Amino acid sequence: MAGSMQASALLITKLIDHAAREHTAQEIVTYWADSSITRTSWGEVGKDARKFAQAMQRLGMKKGDRIATMAMNHAHHLISWYGAAGMGGILHTVNPRLFEEQLVYIMNHAEDRVLMFDKAFAPIVESLKPQLKTIEHYIQFDGEKGEYPTFKELIDAEDGDFDWVEMEENDSCGLCYTSGTTGNPKGVLYENRSNVLHALSAIQPDVMNLTSRSVMLPVVPMFHANAWGVPFACAAVGAKLVFSASNEPSILWKMIREEGVTHSAGVPTVWLGLFADMDQNGGDYGKMQVAIIGGSACPRSMIVRMMENDIHVAHAWGMTETSPIGTAGSRPTNWDDLDFDERVDSISKQGRPPFGVEMRVVDENGNVLPRDGVSSGTLEVRGPWIIKRYYRADEDAVGDDLWFDTGDVAVMHPDGVMQITDRAKDVIKSGGEWISSIELENAAVGCPGVAEAAAVGVFHPKWEERPLLLIVKKPGADVTGEEIIAFLSDKVAKWWLPDEIKFVDELPHTGTGKVLKRAIRDEYKDYKLGSLSEA
Ligand code: AMP
Repeated sequence: MAGSMQASALLITKLIDHAAREHTAQEIVTYWADSSITRTSWGEVGKDARKFAQAMQRLGMKKGDRIATMAMNHAHHLISWYGAAGMGGILHTVNPRLFEEQLVYIMNHAEDRVLMFDKAFAPIVESLKPQLKTIEHYIQFDGEKGEYPTFKELIDAEDGDFDWVEMEENDSCGLCYTSGTTGNPKGVLYENRSNVLHALSAIQPDVMNLTSRSVMLPVVPMFHANAWGVPFACAAVGAKLVFSASNEPSILWKMIREEGVTHSAGVPTVWLGLFADMDQNGGDYGKMQVAIIGGSACPRSMIVRMMENDIHVAHAWGMTETSPIGTAGSRPTNWDDLDFDERVDSISKQGRPPFGVEMRVVDENGNVLPRDGVSSGTLEVRGPWIIKRYYRADEDAVGDDLWFDTGDVAVMHPDGVMQITDRAKDVIKSGGEWISSIELENAAVGCPGVAEAAAVGVFHPKWEERPLLLIVKKPGADVTGEEIIAFLSDKVAKWWLPDEIKFVDELPHTGTGKVLKRAIRDEYKDYKLGSLSEA
């Protein structure tokens, strides 16, 4: 028997209509690349999104057309997200930090028809332009009018008298390519329904803990897995959004302190930069309450520092393919009984899946492993915001049972908490046993004088692989290899200790701020491990 409730599709347009209607005056603040600060509101963003949709239709865009953005975080970018979805378009967020050939591949593969870009990326756009086969319109998001029409010009020409295009909840609205460690980048196509469900999940206390009183600064770029869904989640609750087109730590602190930021979201490297700036220039955490940290494992020392300052770390795990939230580290039920160290241990793990995400760990034969806190295997996930098939792929990325192989290696604990032990490609295979590169790195980053660390497996004639630990020192620090080994020796198993520690000036990073292990592995492919050296 059918139920008697109203049919109401889960659409992105409903999120913006809700925010504009119920949280009309709530502010959206932007720090722009030219250092100016502007303020708008959910009410105005709602109106401008309709104008943007109108403008796209005037340019000839139709339902299902791809509209690309190459932009930092700002209010115009936000308006384009909602406006594109409102005319049935697919907003394709392009990561400007990718290599030129990847950018060309992605935009041609997506067959983008419009490219909206920040003035700062104009040189990249100019250099790519001859190779971009499908783009008909180039529009500059910010700054004064140059060669191309500006976003402002575009929407100022419209009256906003526009009805959202009719849509089904399974219609797509967003596209994001994975950085792709091997082969060409792959597109992940988000739906209205998957994004709305993800937003409703993200706001809950055990995930991002967002309310209408929250002030959220997403440092994670809008081109990295939908800025973790933050722009949709904030609309659902009517939170204040603070954007910064600059990731300069001093600017981020200024916005955090002056705008009363309570929540932030970013990869660990963002916080390494913020801490370094604070250590040098002083200052406080303002009203910060929740730091959502993910994208790569959050080092223990970072969690300690946050907790000492009464900031809750929501240590989140996810992927572009999972929209991206797969788990979030919330306080366990026995939190009140735990001492400080036990609390840090708990937050250091990646947390539980929220309702909607199912999770399991399997061995190489596909057998499901017990949730015993020790059996480690491949992490698989499924649910309404997990990928089924990559964009324009011939086959599904999952089997009939829908379990998606994440390529991560994890352990499930008896209380349902998931712990990532490594990326399958990054584990160091020593004498048939696995050494977690993540654990080594995170322990090393806790050593005084160490700014950043990367552990990779290097060929060893007896053990197959042994760990090489690359270290970037903090400015002015004179920490030695021996001191780091001594520091690590009570934190990891003896046979995990690196065979060599090498000091380097910097580590390569991906376009989303993660250490680029593949490049390091390539560089040290034929490396002959010595003893402790400080080359
Ligand atoms: P991306 O799709 O570029 O965001 O990359 C997703 C990958 O980042 C995952 O498969 C993990 O390997 C890694 N990752 C994301 N969050 C975490 C985390 N909290 N801890 C460890 N690894 C993470």
